[in-house]
Amino acid sequence: MELGPDTVIMPSLRLNPFFAHSLSRRFPSCSDLIEPIIWGSPIVQERVIPQALRRLGMPPYPVLPGKALIVVPRGSRTDFRERFEEGWKLLVKGARMLARRRAASSPLWRFIDLAFDYIEERMPGVLERPPLKLRYIEGERVVRSPRDYAEAVRELWNRAVKEKAIRVEPEAEVDLEEATSSAFSGESIGFPVASRRGFDYCTSCAKMPAAIIMPVEEDYSAVLATEIGEVPDGMMFFFSPGERLCPWCFLKRVISIEPRLLRILMDPVPESGLESFIDEIAEQEFGRLFPSTVHIALAEGIARLPRRDIEVPEEAKLWMWGLAERLARENPLALKVMEVLDEEVYRGAGPDIDDRFLWRYYALLRGDADSMGMLLSGNTLALWNPETNCRAEELSLEGAKLIIVSSAEGDVKKILREKLEKGEFGDLVFQQEDHCSGEGMCGRPFHLTPSISYHTVISASLMKAALLDIKVINELNGFVVYAGGDDLLALLPVNRALEAVRETRRNFSKKIDLESYPMVPMLHGVGRSYSLLVVHYRSPLSAALEQSSISLDLAKERVVFNRGQSFRKDLLVLERVPGGERAFIPLAPYRSIEEDQNGSLHPNVEDYERFLASIPDSLQAVLQGMRPLSDTPKLSSNILHDAALLYRDLDTLASLGESELMRKMLERLLERNMAPGLREKMKLADLGQWVMDDLLLTSRISVKEGGRERPLVVEFFEALKVVGGGMR
Ligand SMILES: [Zn+2]
Repeated sequence: MELGPDTVIMPSLRLNPFFAHSLSRRFPSCSDLIEPIIWGSPIVQERVIPQALRRLGMPPYPVLPGKALIVVPRGSRTDFRERFEEGWKLLVKGARMLARRRAASSPLWRFIDLAFDYIEERMPGVLERPPLKLRYIEGERVVRSPRDYAEAVRELWNRAVKEKAIRVEPEAEVDLEEATSSAFSGESIGFPVASRRGFDYCTSCAKMPAAIIMPVEEDYSAVLATEIGEVPDGMMFFFSPGERLCPWCFLKRVISIEPRLLRILMDPVPESGLESFIDEIAEQEFGRLFPSTVHIALAEGIARLPRRDIEVPEEAKLWMWGLAERLARENPLALKVMEVLDEEVYRGAGPDIDDRFLWRYYALLRGDADSMGMLLSGNTLALWNPETNCRAEELSLEGAKLIIVSSAEGDVKKILREKLEKGEFGDLVFQQEDHCSGEGMCGRPFHLTPSISYHTVISASLMKAALLDIKVINELNGFVVYAGGDDLLALLPVNRALEAVRETRRNFSKKIDLESYPMVPMLHGVGRSYSLLVVHYRSPLSAALEQSSISLDLAKERVVFNRGQSFRKDLLVLERVPGGERAFIPLAPYRSIEEDQNGSLHPNVEDYERFLASIPDSLQAVLQGMRPLSDTPKLSSNILHDAALLYRDLDTLASLGESELMRKMLERLLERNMAPGLREKMKLADLGQWVMDDLLLTSRISVKEGGRERPLVVEFFEALKVVGGGMR
């Protein structure tokens, strides 16, 4: 009522499990209607989600974001901020209450309880401030038509861009003056171990002073025993030796041990109901097993251990059912290997075990949709990201047609197509008055008029892709760190990482044929780039994470793929950590719209779909033919070193356009490295259909930084080296 009679608030489920959960808690009488929309959908009928839902009473994989920008109705900014801060305080209160309740029976929670006491005394007021600074922009326009909406969105967008330029970190809002200055007058900060330098920085965020400092491995049990009595077995899973945590990162850790605390914000739990809610969850504590980087590195080895008396612990099932099926706390051998990477034990396990699979590397996969900003504003150049083009108007109009036509079925589709052919677009598309073209672009591209339902469709598609990502990664024995929006972050065994790229990339653009959900769209034609890092398990994870986002930015902004036409983005960048060459592999060598030799534009959906993410497929096929993945290898892994000697020649031949000579050179290379006595000779085609297709021989990848330019075939061998080199 206060918002006025002409304001319509239109919530849309957008397949978001958290929103659905929240709605069905608020309106229990409607939960029968809401829940089947998400949980009954064939997309999520996977083991992990219903299982977690049943045990946690909420959807799995919640995260606290690092930043958030919210559009609110005019004049309501203060209300939102106050409500958020109240909710946060309630969450902190709940966490403290839970620690107190469980302290008597659980040494782990006794430690958490003492740590909370320490934080409150030594760094008062920090926990109560949210570690997330919400930024708001207020909507001011009255929207009466789709064009109004488009204008309003554009205005908000521009303001959001400006807003992003100034970012106030949440750390700036806490007062640490007293805590840190007294740290240098003899009162060092740190529980249970005091800092030797006055204070230390948090090892997790590296921004705030650490309140909790865990003892080093040698003193771990002794120091903790004096604080909490006995030290439980799995304690190191949650608080590693030597780890230092600031109050916020500590609280986040506590929430990851008991994610149901987030229901305080999600359900939400009212202040008056907090006690009974905490009582309810305090009763049912369940074990948790987080995979470490060693677990992931050894997943393939573990999977190949002889399966005797293997029972799957419930806590492992909850988060990574694929690996969990082969894992068991009850199997002392598997556990031993996982915990300490004990080669002696692993080797001593008998003739059944093959030390070919004692790997020290794991794969860190990060994925992110391309050109989301363009897409959200309705600019259809996002569909194929040409490197340069002076036909932006024409290209974008073609893209708009493709989207409009494919959004309908049957007669409507026919009518729409006819109208569009005649140039009758009505209000469906528009050109921006003050458009500024990007680098190498000219002309004013047409935009689809974004509407509320247009945006709803995009976010529903992203949500669906995230749910599918979770499914794929779990099936490949990996672990999803985060899947949401257009982002994916996951850890995988090295030998499954390329499959993960292929499957998730294809799913992202997949047209889903669901009889009961005929109009569930996906982002067909929109690109998605990935960075795949092959990381040694002892490399600091934080450095690897940073490197993976640097690599991804590089792939998105500074790499051009050229096979006659030049495109940007939709790339996979592969890299080994520490130190190693980078390789770039295009994921969509054909875009959904292509320019023919005469310069006319055609939808090219067939080639786009057929070749989407198929180079990772070819890479995987080659690796499967070599050691260690093959028991009877057809190809010696020396081929990678041999190939490296030819890079310069291949490059020269490629720049001369001598693809026939390149082909001969590669055939020789293959012959030299083929297993002797192979009944059926390997052909170039076995390296992947790409060679036969000439794509590998004629395409080039250029990296703007440093001016590197190489034939795709060189990138192909480099990519094999990165991934193959991680299987040891
Ligand atoms: Zn921190």
